[in-house]
Amino acid sequence: MRRLRKTKIIATLGPASSDPERIEALYHAGADVFRLNFSHGDHADHAARYHIIRELEEKTGRPIAILADLQGPKIRLGSFKGGAAILTQGASLRLDLDETPGDETRVSLPHPPVLESLEPGSVLLLDDGKLKVVVTRIGEGYADCKVEVGGPISDRKGVSIPNALIRMSPLTDKDRRDLDFALELGVDWIALSFVQRAEDVAEIKRLIAGRAAVMAKIEKPAAVENIDEIIEFSDAIMVARGDLGVEVPVQEVPSIQKHIIARAREAGKPVVVATQMLESMINSPVPTRAEVTDVANAIYDGTDTVMLSAESAAGSYPLEAVAMMNSIAEVTEKDPLYRTIIDAKHGHLEATTADALSAAAVQVAKTISAAAIVTYTTSGSTALRAARERGKVSILVLTPNLKTARMLALVWGLHCVYTADAKNFADMVDKACKLAFAEGFAKRSERVVIMAGVPFGTPGSTNILRIAWVGEQ
Ligand code: PEP
Repeated sequence: MRRLRKTKIIATLGPASSDPERIEALYHAGADVFRLNFSHGDHADHAARYHIIRELEEKTGRPIAILADLQGPKIRLGSFKGGAAILTQGASLRLDLDETPGDETRVSLPHPPVLESLEPGSVLLLDDGKLKVVVTRIGEGYADCKVEVGGPISDRKGVSIPNALIRMSPLTDKDRRDLDFALELGVDWIALSFVQRAEDVAEIKRLIAGRAAVMAKIEKPAAVENIDEIIEFSDAIMVARGDLGVEVPVQEVPSIQKHIIARAREAGKPVVVATQMLESMINSPVPTRAEVTDVANAIYDGTDTVMLSAESAAGSYPLEAVAMMNSIAEVTEKDPLYRTIIDAKHGHLEATTADALSAAAVQVAKTISAAAIVTYTTSGSTALRAARERGKVSILVLTPNLKTARMLALVWGLHCVYTADAKNFADMVDKACKLAFAEGFAKRSERVVIMAGVPFGTPGSTNILRIAWVGEQ
């Protein structure tokens, strides 16, 4: 089963998409990656979904990536007497560490490092930016604020502090428990929320120790400032537009998204555009024209992946939302302008064998009108460089490493097959041609361009480019 598009689709699972039939239908409609969102649901829910996906993988014979998205250190207010209060514009509000329920004059902000990083003039946005308070005075264990934009507020609403770099661990105790659990299950990707610095990514990488790949969610202004180092340390990047649009003025989100896609593409790291892509489809079987255009624009920019959140997790039309994304990608990628734009944004080649061979493979495939490029990879790094070329010819990835096959399901243009490594040169050609045929990438008498490395099975050894006729073996 091959997709007729190169852009990949992530579908978040939730109450609307948890039974085996529904998950299988989402996969057939176009979901390449399933996201388990640890901000919602318990471990039993996630484990059940995980096992359904692995059974589906077994049934279809296709590797599917599973992404565990950790909630991260979301800052929240404490509770209020009666569950809510109304903050009045111009009034004072004290934020402190006292856990007793608050009122319109004070409330707990139960995060000592957050209080410590505030200073007079710091702006705090409450409840997704609906309310705004500004710090006027700092004391031991409290901050006095003036309410600039008032309104109703209730228990445990989120707090954003756009301009502060907060010295807190990127992982809460809950995240650490969720991380252990997700790794124990065997997920392929871990997404880290509210990353601020490359060190945050380095910290989680130390804990993961190679058991999964790491995706940094860009949703804080500090992360936008430190984007190059974060990209360097991460295996993939997510433009997490939900929280990002609270933390920065919402009108800055489009340019940030475009810059992040461009930088990630240049670095050869997969990039995901997330949140509100087909938001209206939570309640409607058809999206708005603006949403369709938003998805298409991310695709024209060359994003690897587009993501559905509540649309597939909790909406009334999860299947329609995935099918809609699938058709937007198919139609957009057929537009001749798509190819022109993608080619115009081609990245610089690094002076490595992998880049030299990837660029050459794309060029050779184009020149001889090859049906596909077939690349052997163990760690996935050669396939990532081949995908970075954003060539027109399809890329079939052959890997003896199931984890690599699953992980690469997220990446633009890669169709992965889990298969034993080539034993020798003849086997390399034979296997590549047979699988290109069997997977529907090449017909008999068509040519494929093969990338491989000798000695076989040695990571980082890619050093061969071979043209072969399908059916010549
Ligand atoms: C986001 O904020 O855009 C996002 C993807 O994160 P979450 O769904 O965890 O809020």
